Amino acid sequence: MVEYPWHTAVLQNLWRGRERLSHALLLHGAPGLGKAALAREFVQLLCCASTTGSVACGVCDACRWIQAENHPDVHWVVPDESEDSSDAHRASSSISVGQIRVASEFLQRPSHYGGWRILVVFPAENMNLAAANALLKTLEEPLDNSLLLLVSHQIARLPATVRSRCQQIHLDLPDAALAEDWLRAQGVASPAISLALAGGAPLRAQELAAPEVEQARQELLTNLLVPEKMSPLLLAAQYARMSPENWLRWLTWLQQWVHDLLSLRIGGLIRYHVDCSDVAAALAVRSDLPVLWQLQQRLLQARQAALHPLNLQLVLEEILLAYCAVFLKRNKQ
Ligand SMILES: [Zn+2]
Repeated sequence: MVEYPWHTAVLQNLWRGRERLSHALLLHGAPGLGKAALAREFVQLLCCASTTGSVACGVCDACRWIQAENHPDVHWVVPDESEDSSDAHRASSSISVGQIRVASEFLQRPSHYGGWRILVVFPAENMNLAAANALLKTLEEPLDNSLLLLVSHQIARLPATVRSRCQQIHLDLPDAALAEDWLRAQGVASPAISLALAGGAPLRAQELAAPEVEQARQELLTNLLVPEKMSPLLLAAQYARMSPENWLRWLTWLQQWVHDLLSLRIGGLIRYHVDCSDVAAALAVRSDLPVLWQLQQRLLQARQAALHPLNLQLVLEEILLAYCAVFLKRNKQ
């Protein structure tokens, strides 16, 4: 059994093609698809003592060790965890050259059980440059029965030298109906809305459907939907103490909202905040297109600096004032 139903076909394909696999695979796709789980399932299949078709038995020693993450022939490299283990922190923390050196030495040693030696690096784009360079040597000198599995949300952030030496496997967004069924089974009340906000990634949709998260989005929308009643400075002061994680989420919602307004303004469709399509359409008509473009650019800049804003309250004030300005000109007409 796969953990997520949208993994079934890709896992079967990987399993059927296992004899022809490159010694280095690069599994990539959007965040929120469960790529790490897919990597674990594939590794389990390769190590399982008693597979049936493309299904691992789940009860042999190898299966149990992999589930407990202590199989002696499988080594996971993930960003160093510190006391601060929030998503925002993990997203910014790197995989060091020391970790890659330890991992490369691991691959050199003989297998405990005469099978594969497998190294998994996740998320691979978190390797700093020195770490990626150290990994290149391992990529260039493949060892028998060794498999390097790089898992990445953003392969564009990996050096081309690393990408070009791997067999790339892209994990597509799942079929919407399949994803919505799965979300419904997890107790998500409005799967289509959550899935739209998550750009089609089911695990991200599940996170966004948590009541406290959805409430935060509704609070933001309450302000965005009525710009003439918004007090940018008061709101900025109120939001200035957000955690880095909440700030990233808040910024994403605002970027999506501006994307929706732009799309509607130029005759396209709403993509993210689909539960607000009527109000969005009315606001889009009133929006000043060049000012809206500028705001989108400003939000992109904010995103690039999002993990280290110099002064969050100032950034918020600027963004919210710019948002209100989108609707100013037409109001005066
Ligand atoms: Zn097994």
